[in-house]
Amino acid sequence: MSELRRLNLAFAALLLLAAACGDDSEGTQASVTADAADAGEGSGSADGSGSGADASPDSDSSDTAADTTPVEPGDDGAACTQNTDCASGFCLTDEQGFPGGLCTVFDCSSRQDCFGVGTACLRGQFNGNLCVPLCVVDADCREGYECRGTGTGSYCYPSFANSNLDPVCASDFIAADDVTNFSFGGVSRLDRHRIAFDVPTGSTSLFVLAWDQGHTLVPDLIRAPTAGELQMQTYASYLFTPISLGEVSPVLLPGGPDYTQYVEGGRYEMEFGTDGPATEDLCYLVFTESESLSATGEPLVVDLNFYFVGADGLTADSAVGDPAFTRLIDSFNAVYSTANLTVGEVRYFDVGGDILARFQVIRDSDEVYELVKLSRQPGSSRDALLSANVFFIEGFAGQSSSVLGISTGIPGAAGVHGQAGTGLVFSAEYLRQTGNVNGPQLVGQVLAHELGHYLGLFHTTEQSGGQFDQLDDTERCSTIENGNLGACADYNNLMFPIAATRTSLELSDGQVSIIRANPLTKPVGGRR
Ligand SMILES: [Zn+2]
Repeated sequence: MSELRRLNLAFAALLLLAAACGDDSEGTQASVTADAADAGEGSGSADGSGSGADASPDSDSSDTAADTTPVEPGDDGAACTQNTDCASGFCLTDEQGFPGGLCTVFDCSSRQDCFGVGTACLRGQFNGNLCVPLCVVDADCREGYECRGTGTGSYCYPSFANSNLDPVCASDFIAADDVTNFSFGGVSRLDRHRIAFDVPTGSTSLFVLAWDQGHTLVPDLIRAPTAGELQMQTYASYLFTPISLGEVSPVLLPGGPDYTQYVEGGRYEMEFGTDGPATEDLCYLVFTESESLSATGEPLVVDLNFYFVGADGLTADSAVGDPAFTRLIDSFNAVYSTANLTVGEVRYFDVGGDILARFQVIRDSDEVYELVKLSRQPGSSRDALLSANVFFIEGFAGQSSSVLGISTGIPGAAGVHGQAGTGLVFSAEYLRQTGNVNGPQLVGQVLAHELGHYLGLFHTTEQSGGQFDQLDDTERCSTIENGNLGACADYNNLMFPIAATRTSLELSDGQVSIIRANPLTKPVGGRR
């Protein structure tokens, strides 16, 4: 995780943006049950016993006998393409992130409102409550859906990574006793799994997203077909991201020009540590691309899913016409023009009700993971899934009061939604500022900085001094600790940890190559 902090000096509007790479592995072990079902309620009744009121589908034990009853056509939970297919008269479509469509009741208040046996009202979703089918195991759910939650409150919901991304779930188990040199921070006793996959000749980058739901997952090494082995511990500092994300583990290659020789056609292997059972397979996705990593290559876009969580007057309806929001996007595009990258498709979601009340002001980093876990699949096409979730909150407070934005990963997860590590959060605190601070421009730069982390960029120099990114072509600051920031050669870089009201920000060629290597940056018109 990387944070962006601010520090208000006596008479300069100077903002401090520091990275904190804490070991948050303890904070990310919550199971998927902590998502939509109980996000509306601090009590977080994960067992869905029915006593949790708003915290889970309002099932009770009498429902469980009906759990595995097949969903009848037209009932809630059934496939649909239009409203008239549904007894409820309401169909959530494939394009809205529900594979094959989903008949449901929007804004139900109890299961009495739902159509069909074995359904329940899932409360606390964005924009309202939904009727969903209950389940015991994944096999009870339709293709593209998984059984979320535990106990009698489990319900079918679009799966973590749906079939359009072709996740593979297969690995060899390597017993810990057979591993002599595996050591990774505080989790050196994890058992190890190995996966293998092919990369096409002509590829310029690859991105592996592996997960082991409910278990810590840490990549240890990647073995290229001929270029040899990269230990994650020596591969820049990419290692802290998988620890902080816990269950998902994104790895981007190359992480700068020094690593391009590790991208080649042929069979790759990767080894991961997990605390999951030996019998359980890892699941993973591999994205490869072949476009130029240079800004002289074809133009690329990044699609953004904005979630408005008390962002100073912005809503899904008002954002497009709001001058401050327009200037924010212009500021973002100005930063990334150096990489020949612009904002592509933008989706807008309002966050309301209990979720808004809980997350509009964020007080500690655990809340960031809980909030981004509420992101939802913005569609089921490959192009729609390759989009970044950006949560625009009112501000940070408490022990996080100096923070302006937090990216959950360096890089973050690409292609999946609804998990810890599938988004970034930034503050609208300065959005309406004028005078000394050009608020929209600054907030656009904060978003650009956080997205930089999410795409795989580290700070050029860490605020504490003495730590730098892995790139040869970014400047470094040797005096950052003493506060003479203007003397820093990397002061105007996007990834400098301290921001002020700078009119333009720089990116090095090495940084551009990482930005363009990430599968979230894609050719105009989408990735095939
Ligand atoms: Zn940062």
